[in-house]
Amino acid sequence: MFMCYRCNSEARDGVQCTMCLNRFDFPCAGITEAGYRKLGDRKATWKCNTCKTGTASPNLSSEKTVQGRVPSYGDLENIRLELSKITKQISSLPQLIASVKTIQADISDLKDMKSEMLDVKNSLNHVHTSTY
Ligand SMILES: [Zn+2]
Ligand SMILES: [Zn+2]
Repeated sequence: MFMCYRCNSEARDGVQCTMCLNRFDFPCAGITEAGYRKLGDRKATWKCNTCKTGTASPNLSSEKTVQGRVPSYGDLENIRLELSKITKQISSLPQLIASVKTIQADISDLKDMKSEMLDVKNSLNHVHTSTY
């Protein structure tokens, strides 16, 4: 519960202006409750009508640079880095295929070894059976 700064009536829930820090019920804030919930992160920058229309020019210009944010050089640099990462991954693909082939060769070697072992085992069995 709080008192609306504008109409001085008690309200269950409302909006607090981030500039004058006064609290308003939703009708006086000029926003619906649902609309306010949808603001998300912008709640942290919500201003009451008085503060919004108040022409404090230095504040207004600084606000403009924050809100009208265009992709900066930093963003482009990030994109470039991501792209070069992807390019690196793609260029390492032949290497990856080569190592997979090596593994496959190793596996077939192991299979050969296994059959050789079986041969040895069989001959050992033969030796065993022949000695008995
Ligand atoms: Zn009110
Ligand atoms: Zn305000």
